[in-house]
Amino acid sequence: MKNLWSDEDIIDISVGDDIAFRVYSSRLLGKDESLVLHGGGNTSVKVLEKDRFGAEEAILYIKGSGWDLETIEAESFSPVRLEHLQRLARLSSLSDPEMVNELVTHMTRATAPTPSVEAILHAVIPHKYVDHTHADAVVTITNSPEGEEKIRRIYGDEVIVIPYVMPGFDLARLCAEQLDAKLTSHSIGMVLLNHGIFSFGESAKASYGRMIYLVGKAEAYLRSQAAWDITSTPAEHDRDAGLRLAELRCRIAAAAGFPVVMRRHTDAATMSFVSRRDLESIVQQGPATPDHVIRTKRLPMIGGSVDAYVGAYKAYFAENEPLAKARKTILDPAPRVVLDTLLGMCTVGRSAKEAEIAADIHRHTMAIIQRAEKLGGYRALPAKDIFDVEYWDLEQAKLEKVGRPPRFAGEIALVTGAASGIGKACVDALLASGAAVVGVDINPGIESLYAQPDYLGLVGDVASETRLKAVLTQTADAFGGLDMLVLNAGVFPGGCRIAELPLDQWRKVMALNLDANLVLMRQAHPFLKLAPNGGRVVIIGSKNVSAPGPGAAAYSASKAALNQVARVAALEWGGDGIRINSVHPNAVFDTGIWTEEVLAARAAYYGLSVDEYKRNNMLKTEVTSRNVAELVIQMCGSAFAKTTGAQVPVDGGNDRDI
Ligand SMILES: [Zn+2]
Repeated sequence: MKNLWSDEDIIDISVGDDIAFRVYSSRLLGKDESLVLHGGGNTSVKVLEKDRFGAEEAILYIKGSGWDLETIEAESFSPVRLEHLQRLARLSSLSDPEMVNELVTHMTRATAPTPSVEAILHAVIPHKYVDHTHADAVVTITNSPEGEEKIRRIYGDEVIVIPYVMPGFDLARLCAEQLDAKLTSHSIGMVLLNHGIFSFGESAKASYGRMIYLVGKAEAYLRSQAAWDITSTPAEHDRDAGLRLAELRCRIAAAAGFPVVMRRHTDAATMSFVSRRDLESIVQQGPATPDHVIRTKRLPMIGGSVDAYVGAYKAYFAENEPLAKARKTILDPAPRVVLDTLLGMCTVGRSAKEAEIAADIHRHTMAIIQRAEKLGGYRALPAKDIFDVEYWDLEQAKLEKVGRPPRFAGEIALVTGAASGIGKACVDALLASGAAVVGVDINPGIESLYAQPDYLGLVGDVASETRLKAVLTQTADAFGGLDMLVLNAGVFPGGCRIAELPLDQWRKVMALNLDANLVLMRQAHPFLKLAPNGGRVVIIGSKNVSAPGPGAAAYSASKAALNQVARVAALEWGGDGIRINSVHPNAVFDTGIWTEEVLAARAAYYGLSVDEYKRNNMLKTEVTSRNVAELVIQMCGSAFAKTTGAQVPVDGGNDRDI
């Protein structure tokens, strides 16, 4: 456990700027995945401020609910009147809605985020700075046999040990009592069994330093018990699991009731874990700290029996719901983590980001389990306690913060020729609509087009059948399947009259604009069949299909032939629920082939200005890549849900067609 505090980093923070120090050390905690992950943990600072009338008032600045420590800003902290919080802690009971109401109505900034549910707990700790994490090393020890005794032996009177109580008012009240009874001048923290650890101090540096010191001690203990190093046994994974993944994702989406992204992980540590003989027994305990449940569910699914998993989840709900204080409605019963000896770990979410969060959490859980096993066995909280957190309105509110899912949430699109022009515009529009997108292009720039979990850029020549097969395998590994295919890659070789047309040029155009698309459609078909909301193919055709021009025989013929392939596919694939529609753009000039010079030359050829040339259509309007992409999005969405085999122009109106 490394102390990352650097006095050089804080050179610009003026003495007495308590909040700036709070932000700095909160980010240091957030940077270390072994302390907190994705919104876990929270921090606070108590400051004196003048109110409107000049009277001094103590304010607790506490992390807003759902904020991530790694990226936290000063505005992410909610200022709440400290004395009021301390008085609340002495009440005998306070319901969740009452507590949230008290927190929100006693903030001093109306636009501040909702304070963390652990605000009252922070308020009762009589130190200026308070840091709270779910440190892996600490929960590894508390989640093992005689965890409490081990913690007491490791820390002596340095920490106060708090038995497990669900976060919220009851936990704050218990901590207030324990602090009253047990806090001494030696106390520098609290260990919350099966949950995490607090440290505190009079300065940000002291409180942070104590967190690192305390967690470092837990790590040293694990080393001393030969429970630190995780032995990794090499295990092979299935390298061609594309369709198996798509089939699994299809069944999980059916269980969830909505499409999902499923990310596959086959790193050495994961493969070693999933190939353990005792896998079944060691993963049946539950999460390392309760709030992970909203990301991973209580248990992972082993192998591919979704029905059995759903049955067990419903039984867990039926068993624990009657014990809850208020009536609950069952959440979707689909797994979020799948462990399989050949597939590795697959994680599931409404978006690639959600699936990635589940993966990050479970990667840490696997390490915690393996270390706790060396301490005598991993022991998590009883199912009832996990249920209470999973079905706690204040936890679910963190997920709802994200808002209504976007149009293509959980769906996966593949776009060819995606590095520029219409292809790139389609990638942009699909990402903006919530899809996970695979962009394929021969241009190596495709890989770095976006650095975000819902985008995968693959370099590839669509004319290579083997490369296309690999692209689909990689798509399934990254996102679990394929729902939407946008066939955009193509070439326009430049004008050439039939009398002079070389056969090799004709063949090259046919190979790229026709053959490659046929091969990709054929290979994508079994994946599209498994799309939860039905597969969709959109062909980027051309005005030349219905209104060819002289000098474009190869291009026009290839696009017309592709159009015919699309129509036949619409006939053949309707029974599989796959829709195939075509857009026919014309005169889209914001693409790579149209340089300023080419544009000026073409306009001059027709005796038009560049602007007139661009708007040379019935509507006298310029057609952009974005306009084409918007139509593609509509064709993938509900507006075209009952349409297949359609051809729609996007050209501003062409007199030869009309
Ligand atoms: Zn916590």
